Amino acid sequence: MFWVGACIWYIFGEVSESDIRLDKVDYDWTIYPGASDCDDRYYDIEAVMAHERGHTYGLGHVTVEDHGRLTMSEAMRPCDGQHRTLGLGDVRSLRQKYGVE
Ligand SMILES: [Zn+2]
Repeated sequence: MFWVGACIWYIFGEVSESDIRLDKVDYDWTIYPGASDCDDRYYDIEAVMAHERGHTYGLGHVTVEDHGRLTMSEAMRPCDGQHRTLGLGDVRSLRQKYGVE
């Protein structure tokens, strides 16, 4: 079972389209991960969208043990909004991938 997933279509090696699917039946989503009433049911939708768009741009996962604070970390906890913005490692990966210094 997938709680979230990105589907990416390519034409001649270039991304042509990307869709993201969220499981709204088994999971709940919030835009207020720091709210006092946020509990283990709620995941930060902005953080998840940033992560999934990272896949659209060709980024893979990094391990929680080594890079748990990066947006492309392979796991996010409920009510955790720290992955909404790219970390330095995320930015460096994008720059390396697209040849931007
Ligand atoms: Zn992912």
